[in-house]
Amino acid sequence: MNEVLQKLVMLQDLDYLIVEVKSKDVKKVQKKMGLEIKGDEKLHDAKKALEEAIPPRVLSRYHKLMERFGRAIAPVVDSKCMGCYMTLPKRLSVKELGNKELRQCERCGMYLYWV
Ligand SMILES: [Zn+2]
Repeated sequence: MNEVLQKLVMLQDLDYLIVEVKSKDVKKVQKKMGLEIKGDEKLHDAKKALEEAIPPRVLSRYHKLMERFGRAIAPVVDSKCMGCYMTLPKRLSVKELGNKELRQCERCGMYLYWV
């Protein structure tokens, strides 16, 4: 898989995790289970390290997409972008080629990865 794409997938996962950890309900559940997560800081450190490894242009696009859609990376299933359900042009829908390069959906702009 493309290195930047891989990092973007990780970054999005981290972002979701950070939101989850912040949510009070999750904290309540964790307390009930005797788990106290003190990993917030570590998550932010990991996020910072990842962000530094992603080209600024890609990162800024990522943040814009997160703001707008709440996600920035969409899987491709059956040649369709799962962000907007558009069928991708044939030249874009080859799995083997898809993950080698960082690609964006022509309609919604999300970064694409093939599953
Ligand atoms: Zn799309």
